[in-house]
Amino acid sequence: MRVVLLGPPGAGKGTQADRIADRFQLVHLATGDILRANVADGTPLGEVAQAYLDSGELVPDQVVVAMMLERLTQPDCGHGFLLDGFPRSVAQARALDEHLAELGAPLDAAINLEVAEEELLHRLAGRGRADDNAQTIRNRLQVFVSSTRPLLDYYDEQGLLFSVAAAGTIDEVSERILHTPRDVPRPAPPARSQPATSGSEGVDAS
Ligand code: AMP
Repeated sequence: MRVVLLGPPGAGKGTQADRIADRFQLVHLATGDILRANVADGTPLGEVAQAYLDSGELVPDQVVVAMMLERLTQPDCGHGFLLDGFPRSVAQARALDEHLAELGAPLDAAINLEVAEEELLHRLAGRGRADDNAQTIRNRLQVFVSSTRPLLDYYDEQGLLFSVAAAGTIDEVSERILHTPRDVPRPAPPARSQPATSGSEGVDAS
């Protein structure tokens, strides 16, 4: 299974990615972690990436695409992977699609974690002293809106997008993700006297 996990900073992608990857035995590739490891090791890639990480801007597409496509050609990825934090722009998504098309192994799903903006600000501020990096937080959210959110339409048009409400506890969100119907079209609810409500386990298109 080849899956992309999408969602704004603070949506809990890393935590949920670990769980999904465990459950389906997928290689979990977290782009931010790979970039931070390069910075820590002082690699040439890390030197390029550092200023972008510090400011919350995206590392240039060609740098990240080269890094991730190279990683995806390694044998462990042949059994399936979960991408956490990549792609983050339509250009990156196109490059990924082209690469996977050449391998004859396209994506199976793009899972989008949906969180209300006030909740995100609250979660992000709770990670440390809000004053320390308020500007970076604001910038990362803006970058998400302008560069990454268009990916939702991109994957929706391909019929790959599944949106999951990411409010609630970690377990509740995991349950919703793992029970997202992937290949079974949802049947129309039976006609009952009860009025139809939004009771479909939080899994729905946005
Ligand atoms: P993350 O750990 O996923 O929140 O990413 C931390 C930072 O790494 C981001 O704010 C960006 O500066 C950089 N980054 C992570 N993934 C990407 C990507 N796909 N494209 C460009 N920059 C990225």
